[in-house]
Amino acid sequence: MTVAVTIDQVGKNFGSGAPALSNVSLEVKPSELVALLGPSGSGKTTLLRIVAGLEQPSHGRVLFDGQDALSVPVRRRGIGFVFQNYALFRHMTVAENVAFGLRSRPRAERPSEAEISKRVADLLALVQLEAFGGRFPAQLSGGQRQRVALARALAIEPKVLLLDEPFGALDALVRKELRKWLRELHDRTGHTTLFVTHDQEEALELADRVVVMGRGKIEQVGSPDDVYDRPETAAVFGFMGESSRIEVEVKDGVAIAGSTAIAAATQPVPDGPALLYVRPHDVSLGLPGTPGLRGAVRAFRRHGAIRRVEVEVGSALFEADIAPTVRVPVGEAVAVRLDRARLFPPTGPGVDCRPPPPQQPGDYAI
Ligand code: ADP
Ligand code: MG
Repeated sequence: MTVAVTIDQVGKNFGSGAPALSNVSLEVKPSELVALLGPSGSGKTTLLRIVAGLEQPSHGRVLFDGQDALSVPVRRRGIGFVFQNYALFRHMTVAENVAFGLRSRPRAERPSEAEISKRVADLLALVQLEAFGGRFPAQLSGGQRQRVALARALAIEPKVLLLDEPFGALDALVRKELRKWLRELHDRTGHTTLFVTHDQEEALELADRVVVMGRGKIEQVGSPDDVYDRPETAAVFGFMGESSRIEVEVKDGVAIAGSTAIAAATQPVPDGPALLYVRPHDVSLGLPGTPGLRGAVRAFRRHGAIRRVEVEVGSALFEADIAPTVRVPVGEAVAVRLDRARLFPPTGPGVDCRPPPPQQPGDYAI
């Protein structure tokens, strides 16, 4: 059983201060896995709690398959919810935890003990914890506990699965494993799923679609490729991964930093101030005299598997990722190529850039 979820113009005010949500609208298709991605405080949990029925919106509607869901009591809404902090019952075994939702149904709707046992065994197999039914939560690792929490959420055969940073408290390696595991699980079970995270990588790797939130609003909705490669706003670009942010002045479609032309817009952009965003892996360095902007190395340092270099071009400072075997002394002249850059005027959508036309001395003198 899988349903479409419609969030229609939902707003939430908690009283004083800015609204936690303003006019959020979103269509989640049956069996879709949608990630709500945004910084802390952007309203992700509030939205999830409204869909679950744990919170009432100040205005707006929530529909399941076109039917009003807000008037349906929480217990009847058919929601499986997993929180960041494993809310397992400590005094119950794993099997009792998973069975809890079924055992607490009114007698008329409660499956028989034999059916419950069968269902619990199936679910423990699904989350690969067959042998753990008799253990208590304290005897499990964090990752195992979250898998139990998921099995418990699935036990009631929910229409919708809501996951609020379910892997947030786990260490990086376990998170990565569980991410893959959850995607595979979703492909098999096909529950309509809303997954909250503030981790871009997690959202990009897991989700069919990503909803980027900021300050109670949706900034952009799209496929992982859309939001990563074609951010509509500077906020989304900045949030989706590491980047250099350069204040520029646009003149005839050319972005100028100081008095140096650094990029040209591929679509019309108004003259005036704008922001240019570039990711470190989209900047390449060459020997002086090879194609590119004339730059100088300001700093370099080890950065995981690669080496990260700071290069200055005009008044702009870019970060570039290079192979760790390459040495680039501070002060060295280099050719800087922006393989991919995006320009954001103060209003209107971002546009892709290409290299600027050759610059004559005095072209953009200030
Ligand atoms: P996120 O999950 O994206 O971190 P939240 O939905 O938890 O964001 O919070 C969004 C905003 O709403 C924040 O400014 C938060 O302080 C506020 N907020 C959340 N819950 C409550 C509440 N029960 N009472 C008052 N303010 C709240
Ligand atoms: Mg939250």
